[in-house]
Amino acid sequence: MRMIDLILKKRHQERLSDDEIQFIIEGYTKGTIPDYQMSAFLMTVVMNGMDEQETAALTLAMMHSGEVVDLSAIPGIKVDKHSTGGVGDKTSLVLGPMVAACGAKVAKMSGRGLGHTGGTLDKLESIPGFRIQQEEQSFQKQVQEIGLAIIGQSENLVPADKKMYALRDVTGTVDSVPLIASSIMSKKLATGSDAICLDVKFGSGAFFHTIEDARKLAQAMVKIGVHTGRDTRALLTDMDQPLGCAIGNILEVKEAIATLQGKGPNDLLELCMQAGCIMLMQAKIVENQEAGRRLLESKLRDGSAFRALVQMVEAQGGESVYLMHPEQFPVAKYSFSVVASSNGYIQSMDALELGECAMRLGAGRARKEDPIDFTAGIILHKKIGDPIKEKDVLATIYTNIEHGELEIPTIKKAFHIGEDPINPRPIVHEIIQNEDQGRAK
Ligand code: URA
Repeated sequence: MRMIDLILKKRHQERLSDDEIQFIIEGYTKGTIPDYQMSAFLMTVVMNGMDEQETAALTLAMMHSGEVVDLSAIPGIKVDKHSTGGVGDKTSLVLGPMVAACGAKVAKMSGRGLGHTGGTLDKLESIPGFRIQQEEQSFQKQVQEIGLAIIGQSENLVPADKKMYALRDVTGTVDSVPLIASSIMSKKLATGSDAICLDVKFGSGAFFHTIEDARKLAQAMVKIGVHTGRDTRALLTDMDQPLGCAIGNILEVKEAIATLQGKGPNDLLELCMQAGCIMLMQAKIVENQEAGRRLLESKLRDGSAFRALVQMVEAQGGESVYLMHPEQFPVAKYSFSVVASSNGYIQSMDALELGECAMRLGAGRARKEDPIDFTAGIILHKKIGDPIKEKDVLATIYTNIEHGELEIPTIKKAFHIGEDPINPRPIVHEIIQNEDQGRAK
């Protein structure tokens, strides 16, 4: 086989076979196919797309380019959750403990934050002592005993994706449904869970701005699940405003704790409820959403969901005193209020701008190697639909950066205030799943 022939084949809109796709991914990972040929190939995929079979073959070839985690020693159905990323997204910290308290097994490998999106690992590491590295045996033991472990992804997981993503980033080839779907799903499949619940976000703070694009991606990933025999379902969720009220690592951990104690924001709780119902159905713990909701509510009420978070944190070396007494978390040196200068209702918010502001205040990284300030971030006091009076506090900034107040005008501009009352959009818009799994919504 020659790479030039396969590039031409795709350029002429012919289907590639599984073996041809395997040849490309293996050759590129090993270095026998150079960047310039791979760039040309990726561009033909952007232009001409891939069908379901090709996308599944691409995903499997990428998945097998490195280590594949075997979780079969853990009895039962292992369920995983993945978010396409957004601002203030602390879902895993709430949802993981909620479903683990109901008996599900969650063996999760997470990533770090970059740019305007935060990462679960950074949030967990803001709890003093928390370890994100674990030996395979203790990881599996923890999942068996507590039902939940969240660790960092192994360096050897899907090396093809690392190389391809770096190339896509500089060749204008990120923006393609089959390439994004195979990139995300190859990593999820390699981490070994039996079922995958995807949170595909759309709106001003998400990778995709429109629901139509988010739906195409979700459908492609659910189909990959069908081809690879993993029960994969997706929620299309709103990211036109940050999720919950906290943006920034310690601030988000505190909000996750409050949510598990029944004092959190409604949008975060509702997303965790709906995703939780799906995960419990995937784990065959409940048969339908109503039963799932009842079970999840009971585990929040009796404190066992919060206890599951405490158990996970303790098992991974974290100091759980901070969970019992969140007021003991360190606090940033400076805080500033952002106040409204008109009356009205919040019509919309620029979630991307708020995420980028939080990053500049120290809560995130512009480049992978940048340090992070766990105490920095923003607390939103108002969200879409809320009535506003002049001088109301819209948000509070927390930072250790001198002159953090310079971000006040930008944050203020991210709140769009108008005269008319409006209803915020629901957090979950749609659930995408294979027809065989029955409609959940
Ligand atoms: N996230 C990924 O993991 N891969 C992509 O291609 C895009 C977003």
